[in-house]
Amino acid sequence: MTHHKKALPPLDPCTACDNSGVVPGVFHELDCAVCDGVGWLPVAGVDITQHLGRSMAKMIKMNRILRATSAQGEVEYHPQSGRAGVRGNFVGD
Ligand SMILES: [Zn+2]
Repeated sequence: MTHHKKALPPLDPCTACDNSGVVPGVFHELDCAVCDGVGWLPVAGVDITQHLGRSMAKMIKMNRILRATSAQGEVEYHPQSGRAGVRGNFVGD
């Protein structure tokens, strides 16, 4: 027996919960019953855990690259941008 990496077939995103794994409940979000809270539909012969693990590693790597590139003057989100324009009004003694 030889071990070799085979390409994993793509998973189908769950449309019932819009790929989120949760659906809005009355008071809080509930696990999607269609995909069992996974957000992806099981594919025959595919280990979904392995699939998600690899996807996650790929996304983390991409996230690092994106952060590295966005540090070079790309659009940044400032949660406290409401402070702009307030300065100059306060004049102490
Ligand atoms: Zn679902």
